[in-house]
Amino acid sequence: MTASPTESAQARSAPRRSPGGFPVVGVIGGGQLARMMQGPAIELGVQLSVLAESVDASAALVVPSSPVGDHTDIERVREFAARCDVVTFDHEHVPPEVLASLEAAGIPLHPSPAALVYAQDKLAMRRRLAELGVPCPRWAAARTADEVRAFGDEVGWPVVAKTPRGGYDGKGVRVVSAAEVDGLEDWLGAMGRPGPLEDGILVEERVEFVRELAVLVARSPSGQAAAWPVVETVQTDVICTEVLAPAPGLDPGLAAEVTAAVLGIAGELAVTGVMAAELFEVRSEEGGRPAYLVNELAMRPHNSGHWSMDGAVTGQFEQHLRAVLDLPLGDPSTRAPWTVMANVLGGGHDELYSAYRHVMARDPGVKVHLYGKGVRRGRKIGHVNVASRSLEDARGRATHAADYLRGVIDE
Ligand code: ADP
Repeated sequence: MTASPTESAQARSAPRRSPGGFPVVGVIGGGQLARMMQGPAIELGVQLSVLAESVDASAALVVPSSPVGDHTDIERVREFAARCDVVTFDHEHVPPEVLASLEAAGIPLHPSPAALVYAQDKLAMRRRLAELGVPCPRWAAARTADEVRAFGDEVGWPVVAKTPRGGYDGKGVRVVSAAEVDGLEDWLGAMGRPGPLEDGILVEERVEFVRELAVLVARSPSGQAAAWPVVETVQTDVICTEVLAPAPGLDPGLAAEVTAAVLGIAGELAVTGVMAAELFEVRSEEGGRPAYLVNELAMRPHNSGHWSMDGAVTGQFEQHLRAVLDLPLGDPSTRAPWTVMANVLGGGHDELYSAYRHVMARDPGVKVHLYGKGVRRGRKIGHVNVASRSLEDARGRATHAADYLRGVIDE
């Protein structure tokens, strides 16, 4: 018997419990993070359903239950969520009123809106971390150009200005010199935030960091928590291009301290699911141990954790599913001395398939992960992981594969 067109459309939009009563995990947003949850969901026997931006969104291409809907449309999101056992997120952009409506309807959200706000709003995050006594760059909320000037005069120029909401991959971040303060309003206008800095922006001292680190942890509703080793993230033009796991040469005392601090933050904020903290490693005073400052938090699987898909006993996407379902967490320890992740950014090729064949043939140890996204210059379209006994070897091979896929080298 063949299904009628209406039945097929319903099958596509309505998640159904897996055989055995396994729960349905709903993901709002159909980007690459939702897509990468599908592999572990299949293996765990958990059904995923994704509220996707379009039929060809990255996750909609691989998750059979991917109804299309706008994450800002309360009715649409409620209708989607009502068919899921728990709901989690592919991104941080679901508006507070939509989250409140889901919460009022009794839908289990992971992370909860009360925790998620600290990943959605950088000003809220700075205020809360300051209350918790977590080391952060010096910062202020500024509503006028004069307030930005007063802050810069106090901490030194240039400063870093950030839109509190909606930024990603450095798009809401700008280094501002004293001479550029007057141009700030134009920049906010170009970011879709016109007006005289009216909601307030975050301004921070520009930190002279030694390098950037990230700590990825997972926490379940019953409070079990697990942390992966601290990693180093390498940014090129404010976009993360490489992650070295674990962070080479990291002082063991600092590693233990930042891991404990980030697990503490996850506990204090009652985060459920995976949380990433981006950190700056800074030089301490003469003779002291190196220190750290927290840059920002993300409450979902994160680019700094992609290495774990091939480099850890439990990868971040599997762990996120286990955490949001309150299942016992998996072992986050490493499977190799070093794993290097290199992001594949859109570049010279429109057609990736021949480059992909070349990369596989040249180095059978490279693990390629592509997101099914159209190629646009600078857009993250995939990543590669290489595990090795030698950091130099892993780094060289990962960078080569990513550069080849990107089209910046051809041999
Ligand atoms: P996004 O949310 O867009 O990722 P971030 O706040 O993480 O924005 O900033 C992006 C990058 O900008 C950081 O990885 C870091 O390289 C740089 N950056 C951000 N804040 C500061 C700061 N206070 N001092 C120096 N560099 C910064």
